[in-house]
This record gives sequence, structure tokens and C-alpha cells, in this order.
Amino acid sequence: MAQIIQGTEDLYGADMRAWQRMTDIARELFGSYGFDPIETPAIEQVDTFVHGIGESTDVVRKEMFRVFSGALLPEVMERGSEAHLKPRQRMALRPEGTAGVVRSAVENNFVPQGGAPAKLWYAEAMFRGERPQKGRLRQFHQVGLEWLGAPDPAADAECIIVLMEYFKRLGFDPSQLRLVINSMGDASCRPAYRDSVRQFILDHADEMCEDCLERAELNPLRAFDCKNAHCREVMEAAPKIDGALCDDCRAHYAQVKRYLDEAGIAYEEDPTLVRGLDYYTRTVFEVEVTGAKVGAIGGGGRYDGLMELEGGKPTPGIGFAVGFERIHLALKELGIDLAGEAPGCVYVACMPSERSAAFSATLALRQAGVRTEADYQGRSLKAQFKQANRLGARLCVVLGTDEVAAGVATVRDMVSHDQVQVPLTELASFVAERV
Ligand code: AMP
Repeated sequence: MAQIIQGTEDLYGADMRAWQRMTDIARELFGSYGFDPIETPAIEQVDTFVHGIGESTDVVRKEMFRVFSGALLPEVMERGSEAHLKPRQRMALRPEGTAGVVRSAVENNFVPQGGAPAKLWYAEAMFRGERPQKGRLRQFHQVGLEWLGAPDPAADAECIIVLMEYFKRLGFDPSQLRLVINSMGDASCRPAYRDSVRQFILDHADEMCEDCLERAELNPLRAFDCKNAHCREVMEAAPKIDGALCDDCRAHYAQVKRYLDEAGIAYEEDPTLVRGLDYYTRTVFEVEVTGAKVGAIGGGGRYDGLMELEGGKPTPGIGFAVGFERIHLALKELGIDLAGEAPGCVYVACMPSERSAAFSATLALRQAGVRTEADYQGRSLKAQFKQANRLGARLCVVLGTDEVAAGVATVRDMVSHDQVQVPLTELASFVAERV
């Protein structure tokens, strides 16, 4: 029997309803902040991710699913390398949303010189070749937004405000959430800070794991996130970014915090919050659920250099992404139901001889916007009533021989069992008014 791939999920029933709620709430909320929806392809050139996310990140080095067309694969396998391929032939499934949106913004000139910022949101599947575990899948879903062309610290604060409002509308109480923020500096102050952390790791090389020694060269700040508790202990004494920010970054960060205070958003500062991707500059943030063990449910930050890395003009940007699967897990652990009830329906039951009258009635009800079900298996009236109950029908329209001959239908309330006869010509409006 064919089986689903580990770390991927089928979505249906209550899960699908929860997914739709998460998307609907995002559409309404992000729309009210002036964001328009965008959908970019699930496959992009590898370079889009390498330039944007960074060659040294785990996501690019280990977690991208590479895609080769069936025609190219044998050639790549035979040569044992893809070095001969053109950039456009080297493809990957997107591991995150920002790089693709920024690539599109560059290609389509969403932020023309002197033009207004571009504000975009997406809800899409992402793919990462991770070891599957609770809250960590290989295909997962994110809703996120990207705000391109806005250097003002108010944009950073508003991004965080809309993120926290999103969580509130999903059903979280603000007291259940922990928002952590930091500034990662920019191109003028981060390189020196990065070097100081690299030097610290090398000075403590005998106490750090192999991965951290590799990080010292590639991505030293990631050592703060090492899975190894001893490394994290050693890193407690490492230099922290707050002491290394340049004046501009310090002023920007202070203004972001003032805006958050003004908006009444509670946050904690963590100078070791670095996030996994290379493109972040200045403000970064992450949100955890205090009462649920699911990891971070969302995070983001400013990425003022990314448009240039993707081949565009220097353009500031900021955004965040939120993982549906983790939100869903967290809400379940907190006993909050996002899915709600399955939608009810109206059931059209008929004697087998009245099938064509049932067909017309069903059609008329659906055209009047009523969610309508009927029998398609030639079952007895009794079996049809049972099915109506199973489907949670609120009303049942019954078409027997006598009714059809008299040009009426019996409409039965499935809860009170009251029933009335209604002329077939008025059936659709009668039912539509009652559901
Ligand atoms: P990141 O881009 O890694 O910061 O991810 C943003 C959000 O996406 C996280 O806070 C999670 O909610 C979610 N997420 C990231 N990776 C995974 C994964 N492998 N499986 C499920 N959700 C994920």
C-alpha cells in the first residue's frame, strides 16, 4: 500500500477547518493593515535561497529539498555533480517565504524608486528536509507578511503589533505568549561583533562541540542556539550584541521599543536571539507559547540588505512568518478550539420513484445558497433519514409520491421533529430563510 511521506500530513475535516480559519483571520487582519495577498511558486532557483537565506545557514546547507526534472536526474546522478547545470536548472522547494517574495518584488519592481512601500502577505506550504518530530515537519504551512521599502522603526513595531493581534484573534490570551526581541545590528556594526563571537568560540574551542567549531567559521552567532546545553552555558560568557550596536542601530532599536511600550505590547529582550537565517538586520523577534511545549510559533525581523542580495536596488524590508502546525498544536494543548463545528446542511430525502423531483429541489436549494445533501445510492427513505442525522442536517425535505403529485414537499425540523408542507415553488426561499 502506498504511504504518506514521514513528516508530511493529510489535512481534512477539523484540521482543514482550522487551517481555513487561520487563513481567513490573516486575510481580514492583514488586509486591514494594508497588506495584499501574493503567491509565489513553490519551486525557485536554488540561487534565490542561497543569496537570500545565506550559504552558511542550516536551511540552505542541509534542509533544502532539491528538485531535478526527470530528464536531468540521470545525468546528474551519472556525473555525481550538478556543477554543469545552468542556474535555472538548479531548483529547490521553498524552505521559507521571504526569499521568493523578495525575488518577485525585484523582478516585478514592486518598490519603484521613490514609490510607496509594497505590503504583501502569503499563506503557503514550505518544505524543509528536517528530522520529523512534534511540531517539526518536512512540509508545513506558514502565513507571513513582508513590508518592503519602509525603514521607519514604526514599521518594525507595527509588524510586531499585527503579529500579536493575529495570535489574539486566533484565541491566545496575551498572557499565554512570550514575545522576545533583539537587535542584530547592521552591516556597519555586525561584522565586528560577529568576529568577536568567532574569536570567543575559538578561545573556548576545547569546551565546544564540533558543530559550534564549524559555526565559528560559517555562522558564529548560531552557537547561541546550539542544541548542546554545555555549549549554551559556555556562550553565556560570550560578548553580547547590545554592547556592540552602532549609534544608528541603537537609536532604531530604542524607538521600536518606545512604540511597543506605547501600544501596550509586553516583550522581553534577549541579546542572544539571532534567528537562523543570515538576512536579518536590526530588529528580530520570536514568539513562544508559555503553556505549550511546541517551540517558537512565529518569528521575523528586518532584512534591509535582502533586496540587494536578490539583485535589486537597496530597499529596506521587514516581515514575519507563523507556522500553522505549531499554532494548531499549541491551541490544542491549551484547550482552545479553532476548528469549530462542521457546517450543517439540509437533506433532501425522496421515495426512489421521486428521484427527479429530488434532483430539481436539490438544485433549487443549492442555487439559493443552501448547503444541501441528497441520496445518490438508491437507499430506502429510512436509510436516508439516518444519513441526514449522520450529516447533522437541521432540516430534511421529504418528497413522497403524494407530496410530489400535490406539488408540495414536507419540511421536517430534525431537532424538534415539527413538520410543515411547503409548495415546491416556494421551497428554496422557505428553507433558505430557516438555515
Ligand atoms: P522560521 O522561518 O524557521 O523562523 O519559521 C517560522 C515559523 O515557522 C516557526 O516559528 C514555526 O512556527 C514554523 N516552522 C518552522 N520550521 C518548521 C517545521 N519544520 N515544521 C513546522 N513548523 C515549522
